Amino acid sequence: MPQIDSSKVSRWDLHGRAHVVRVQRTGVRRTIRCDTCGWHRGAQFLPWLKAQEHLAQAHQATVDPARA
Ligand SMILES: [Zn+2]
Repeated sequence: MPQIDSSKVSRWDLHGRAHVVRVQRTGVRRTIRCDTCGWHRGAQFLPWLKAQEHLAQAHQATVDPARA
């Protein structure tokens, strides 16, 4: 069974489209990158929180598919 990839944040928008922000780790640094628009930034702390903020603000994607 494949390992669950916890290094990304997936959210659906109101139109049911999936948006994914990936969290990449390079040493102690983390970079988060949005698959939809190419937005990226460094986030040493709470990268998942920043990813969720981007998804909500840029794509109105707030529906967690794990909870839907
Ligand atoms: Zn984006």
